[in-house]
Amino acid sequence: MEPWRPSPRNPMDRIDPKTFHFQFPNLRYASGRKLCYLCFQVERDYFYYNDSDWGVFRNKVHPWAPCHAEQCFLSWFRDQYPYRDEDYNVTWFLSWSPCPTCAEEVVEFLEEYRNLTLSIFTSRLYYFWHPSYQEGLCKLWDAGVQLDIMSCDEFEYCWDNFVYHKRKRFQRWNLLKDYDFLAAELQEILR
Ligand SMILES: [Zn+2]
Repeated sequence: MEPWRPSPRNPMDRIDPKTFHFQFPNLRYASGRKLCYLCFQVERDYFYYNDSDWGVFRNKVHPWAPCHAEQCFLSWFRDQYPYRDEDYNVTWFLSWSPCPTCAEEVVEFLEEYRNLTLSIFTSRLYYFWHPSYQEGLCKLWDAGVQLDIMSCDEFEYCWDNFVYHKRKRFQRWNLLKDYDFLAAELQEILR
């Protein structure tokens, strides 16, 4: 189990290598992976200095307080960065792409934070055959979100920054198994 900081709204530190290799591969269908991980990086230009923050959220599956990883991030961000006019660059690395509800919430969030740019790299496409999930992705795209499938560079970046790798070098193993299929599918959806 990963160590959680006390508040349920706070991100966890890093993920362990086994979890990363199980949760993150580019797969067309990925049974048994009910969790969604969101690794994020926030960069902020603030007057004279650059500030950056990073962490990992995972969806909460408790029946009394379910919260998708994206929703956890949005609520954390609103608390953390109440100044809505500043320039922010936010990058997400997701194991599953957002569901339609989260897509809507992200679009609303971007309307609040006018100077925020969001790039989403997702490893897999959640219900990619389902029209409402496709529509959710299109709404994000129309709202200016950059959407891509995670490729080798992003996996390596995540390994270096979000995984307890204990100085072990990045290995791609099976991470890119269905990359070509997913990249083509995403292009098709956004066309
Ligand atoms: Zn969701």
